[in-house]
Amino acid sequence: MYEYDLLVVGSANADLVIEVERRPAAGETVLGGDLATHPGGKGANQAVAAARLGARTALLARVGDDAHGRLLLDSQRSAGVDTAGVLVGGAPTGVALITVDPSGDNSIVVSPGANGRLAPADVRAATGLLHRSRVVSAQLEVPLETVLEVVRNLAPGSRFVLNPSPPLPLPPEVLAACDPLIVNEHEAKAILGGTGVSGEPADWARLLLAKGPRSVVVTLGADGALVADGDEVTAVPSVRVAAVDTTGAGDAFTAALAVRLGGGASLPEAAAYAARVGAAAVTKRGAQESYPTAKEVEAL
Ligand code: ADP
Repeated sequence: MYEYDLLVVGSANADLVIEVERRPAAGETVLGGDLATHPGGKGANQAVAAARLGARTALLARVGDDAHGRLLLDSQRSAGVDTAGVLVGGAPTGVALITVDPSGDNSIVVSPGANGRLAPADVRAATGLLHRSRVVSAQLEVPLETVLEVVRNLAPGSRFVLNPSPPLPLPPEVLAACDPLIVNEHEAKAILGGTGVSGEPADWARLLLAKGPRSVVVTLGADGALVADGDEVTAVPSVRVAAVDTTGAGDAFTAALAVRLGGGASLPEAAAYAARVGAAAVTKRGAQESYPTAKEVEAL
């Protein structure tokens, strides 16, 4: 039997946030507010979201041998994630330097650091972990060749879920493994390139499916999501909530979907649950700090 409901292979970043009155121009210095440091990165976010929902979750990632790495390991462990697969060293922990202006607009510089050093050899060394996991999810904040190696080392019965963020052209071998490929509007357009971008989201879902994944989910923020499986495109309504901060909603959605699929739900059923989890996540500030427990999702 599987030891983990979900293995997340992906990034772990420290998000360093400073509020500013306005962004500095070249050569200029501006003073900002107090620095806030949050655990983030799409991989780390997904793992925390799954564990908070009660799933047996493991993370395969790389952090630096530094204070940010320890912060990330602590936040994973306190959410209940198994961190035996988190490798330490090789480069500083990935960092996102974020300035937020009074209108709420962000400017972000990302240093991938250790995330960029999560190598195909690290995946091969973790084959045992992959084979003990019912569902494996990945994103693209780690090298694409590492994600390709994940696809090549999946256990025969396990399921692969990919959120291609930030979007890159995907090799056919990766696309063929996705069940589903999960994209937001921006990622859908980037992956479709010129084709179909002017059409409706349901057209994007069909066009994406034609590229080879076994199924597709398009998330539409407050408008919910679309799922495409075989010939059918099904709309999944969102849950109406007072949105406070949408940071990390997509990561919570993906984690919840992956966990439910592993539990045997159909794609529309799993997406309906994931939409509740995504909605709960936007009612609180932050990413990982905003993720609900299973009880909180029920109460929504
Ligand atoms: P991303 O964070 O990747 O851009 P989305 O914004 O599409 O992803 O959000 C992912 C999911 O979270 C949506 O499909 C929806 O279910 C839920 N969600 C996001 N924003 C809201 C909102 N304002 N109200 C209710 N649900 C939301």
